[in-house]
Amino acid sequence: MRLNVLGAGPAYTDRLDAAGAAYLVTHEGTHVLLDLGQGAFPRIFAHVHPTDLDAVVVTHLHPDHFIDLVPLRHYLRYEFEPPRRARVIGPRDLGARLDALHGETGFSDAALDLEVLGTEPRRIGSLTLEGRLVTHTKESYAVRVAAADGPGIVYSGDCGRAVDLAPLIRPGDTLLTEVAFGPGPVPAGVLHLDGPAVGGLAALANPGRVLLTHVLAGRDLDATLASVRARWEGPVSFVWPGDGLDV
Ligand SMILES: [Zn+2]
Repeated sequence: MRLNVLGAGPAYTDRLDAAGAAYLVTHEGTHVLLDLGQGAFPRIFAHVHPTDLDAVVVTHLHPDHFIDLVPLRHYLRYEFEPPRRARVIGPRDLGARLDALHGETGFSDAALDLEVLGTEPRRIGSLTLEGRLVTHTKESYAVRVAAADGPGIVYSGDCGRAVDLAPLIRPGDTLLTEVAFGPGPVPAGVLHLDGPAVGGLAALANPGRVLLTHVLAGRDLDATLASVRARWEGPVSFVWPGDGLDV
């Protein structure tokens, strides 16, 4: 299984090469895109034609995780005759949100086949997708993507309570997790993670490795890594747009 990082967030950035959350998982010709944040759409083309995506999975309805569904929709609608379509799996209100954003009823239906993510595992090509509700927005998911019997990738989406992720993590899995507030602390009432929370989760769930992402601008990266390592001894690193890893 291959993980290509198209964008690593976060919601705003001072990094010229940054893009919103978008992580492409590829296995035996199956391509699943986890989130599609701002500026990530054109980065798909370096890896796969967007019409060859088997699914786009949206973890929650914050724009930095789904806003580039708009260019994807326009591309499918206007670049082809007849228009093409994409399978999009996400929260229940995703279609209505996109329609409202564009001020057009039926906007998303014109090119996107929307499914509610939910928590029942489902097949996407050679991969299995499993969702789990986490503490963030009203309907926010973390997901696990895996080939049959192989190690998986557990992606946190955005998450305000690290232990919510633990039931998804199996031995040998790669934990791709937000660490928005770097070495911490997370301000009171804000539903995101920091390094100590991630380290504590890793010590509890023991993934094969931890990949950190979605860190806010200005956070100290070395201090963030140290804050994870203070609680967990396994491999941990940041991922950035353009990174590709075998998992
Ligand atoms: Zn969010």
